Amino acid sequence: MTAMEELPLRPELRGRTPYGAPQLAVRYALNTNENPHPLPPALLADLQVALADAAAGLNRYPDRDATALRTDLAAYLSRSSGEPVAPGQVWAANGSNEVLQQVLQTFGGAGRTALGFTPSYSMHPIISAGTGTSWVDGHRRDDFTIDRAQATAQVREVQPDVVFVTSPNNPTGTAVELDTIAALYEASSGVLVVDEAYAEFARPGTPSALTLLPGRPRLVVSRTMSKAFGMAGLRLGYLAADPAVVDALQLVRLPYHLSSLTQAAARTALAHTEQLLATVDAVKTERDRIVTALPGLGLTSVPSDANFVLFGHFADSAATWQALLDRGVLVRDVGLPGWLRVTAGTTEETDAFLTALGEVAGTPA
Ligand code: PMP
Repeated sequence: MTAMEELPLRPELRGRTPYGAPQLAVRYALNTNENPHPLPPALLADLQVALADAAAGLNRYPDRDATALRTDLAAYLSRSSGEPVAPGQVWAANGSNEVLQQVLQTFGGAGRTALGFTPSYSMHPIISAGTGTSWVDGHRRDDFTIDRAQATAQVREVQPDVVFVTSPNNPTGTAVELDTIAALYEASSGVLVVDEAYAEFARPGTPSALTLLPGRPRLVVSRTMSKAFGMAGLRLGYLAADPAVVDALQLVRLPYHLSSLTQAAARTALAHTEQLLATVDAVKTERDRIVTALPGLGLTSVPSDANFVLFGHFADSAATWQALLDRGVLVRDVGLPGWLRVTAGTTEETDAFLTALGEVAGTPA
């Protein structure tokens, strides 16, 4: 067998391991921030029809510009944020990971630098490496919030070509104030990407960075249908930005990257937005239930505006992760000593998680 290292691998990929949470067959998979609620039967019925229609046209390439889908996404963003977003400001790809990759291919690359505030979504540095972009860790306070003065000073000093702000942040759940995002935009001369994968779960009073788009042509807001929409298997992510950014992305996107089936399924799901997002409040209730129950187990958490909770402290978080798994509950060890991350989902899942955690933490739930 040939070892990977024996291949003429790019030097920056040597010694790396692929990203990916364990996909284990467990009763309670609370490790990838999916929405566990079943899809509405009316959507499933419509998907059958839409996918059959699209299948009949599979001999032809899909709409390369995904015009109809981008129109639907723009309408959703405008409706939900109150900020008018035009179809020409929207771009879609196979998951927001691909959207972010296209952004880095366009604005990062060899000899260029990206900066993100660690700990955050670990794919940001990985996609940077994959596109030959150097990575710089931005600083956070010990409570995982971003210090505006310190962050803007660091951005002025490093002058990154791409800055990532994840809000609400993964894995901490921390929302970032719009004033901080605006200040980071002013401090940088590169592209500022606000990764809003979890925006729909934010508590009231946490407006989207979409409201900052007017007059900021270097601002990109990325979203996904993987989380609140409960469509992780669909692989549909998107962004909103100045139309010039969308034009620039055309330089790197592969032609026909979004299959006809994906476009049809995403449009069908968007037509059911209201029913799909009806589960968001229930998920937020479970999140808040987890947060409230933790002190009773002698544990703490980071305030969360997402569909997950970072909880701790543990002397040995790896041992706790394993002990929970032994009880059929799979959470995420995000590599932050003392902390673990759990996805909030159904009431049954919360019950199972808190019961297992009570056993593990030594206190009845
Ligand atoms: N951004 C953040 C912050 C995420 O947590 C995730 C998924 N874990 C993504 C982007 C990527 O999501 P997808 O590619 O499924 O849209």
